Amino acid sequence: MNPAGKPGKTGSLMAVEVALARLLELADASRVREHERLPLARIQGRVLAADLVSTLDLPPWPNSAMDGYALRLADWTGEPLVVSQKIFAGQAPEPLKPGTCARIFTGAPVPAGADCVEMQENAEVQADERVRFTETMTSGQNIRPQGQETTVGELILPAGTRLGPIEQGLAASLGCAELDVVRKVRVAVLSTGDELVEPGQALGPGQIYNSNRVLLCNWLQCLGCEVIDAGILPDDLATTRARLGELKEVDLILSTGGVSVGEADFLGIALREEGELTLWKLAIKPGKPLTFGHFRGVPVIGLPGNPASTLVTFALLARPYLLRRQGVKEVDPLKFQVPAGFVWPKAGNRREYLRGRLENGRAIIYKNQSSGVLRSAAWADGLVEVLEGRTLIEGDWVSFIPLSEVLS
Ligand code: AMP
Ligand code: MG
Repeated sequence: MNPAGKPGKTGSLMAVEVALARLLELADASRVREHERLPLARIQGRVLAADLVSTLDLPPWPNSAMDGYALRLADWTGEPLVVSQKIFAGQAPEPLKPGTCARIFTGAPVPAGADCVEMQENAEVQADERVRFTETMTSGQNIRPQGQETTVGELILPAGTRLGPIEQGLAASLGCAELDVVRKVRVAVLSTGDELVEPGQALGPGQIYNSNRVLLCNWLQCLGCEVIDAGILPDDLATTRARLGELKEVDLILSTGGVSVGEADFLGIALREEGELTLWKLAIKPGKPLTFGHFRGVPVIGLPGNPASTLVTFALLARPYLLRRQGVKEVDPLKFQVPAGFVWPKAGNRREYLRGRLENGRAIIYKNQSSGVLRSAAWADGLVEVLEGRTLIEGDWVSFIPLSEVLS
């Protein structure tokens, strides 16, 4: 047993990180360079093409963090102060008259001459409308200084940043109505297998419904890709050749199925004949066979067909590859250590990605980890990583990758 697990090559199998490094190299070499300028409402999940540099100080002027009173601390002697002006958010105040205070509301500019805001809860309005402060005050309190968030010329988001709601809000706060984003990566999705039927149709003998197609097409859209749904490819060489040949205007052909050892692998044959084929046997479970190559120059990734294998290999290999092709630098999903709430008595020679959940701070796993059981992933919140060569007793630390990390 090797409790730490052994990265690198495991027998004739390729370690996951070796395959990923190779895929990322290939992605770097075929980065999508074209970009387009789009309004913020249309950039969800897209990748920033140029550095976003602030043209503003944020906030642009010191403003009040509270509803209360602005004053010059030196003017407070214990004697109540006259309120000389009222400042709402959106107004431009007069300089503060010496020896007075200003009624001020959250987000309103602090008047010149004031160096402190006291919240209204610590202020008593006297019968004569002057204000008395009940607590000790300090200079600068409750004032958000100019430029506390950003200053002019500061790099806010580097090129290669994925743009989610937070980045969109940040860009809007800087006054950007549009951003330069990398053109969408065009991905053709092919499901291979004579047994496959689309949902909505009747199942014939020996047939199953195609689950990978919708899983991948919708997932790719979450990743900011343009999806070309290329349907089901029968297990037949002539059709495989013809259908691959139609997919010229794409950045990647992503297929599932037909890469198992021992099967008549028509995709593989077509790639070997009219492109290039690399067949990897990965130390990953579910998963293992993964095809990479090109057909007449168009890159192809062939994922294993069992739905849980498709999910895991897409999440850990194809997803980072596609993000990197759009120029994203950080493509590793967040993973953290949790104690195992299960036992793993038998060490495997492949790295396992068990569909699991966190319960009372421990990772538990779905009862059936078969690669054909997609339900395991619907039940799960994440992938529990058990390194090759490793056994576990309850309480041993394992890595947990939340599924939410990889699904978008
Ligand atoms: P293959 O890699 O083609 O040998 O497929 C492995 C297993 O995954 C077989 O049981 C297939 O029926 C199943 N499978 C392949 N593609 C799909 C798909 N698109 N949807 C559901 N199951 C699939
Ligand atoms: Mg098949």
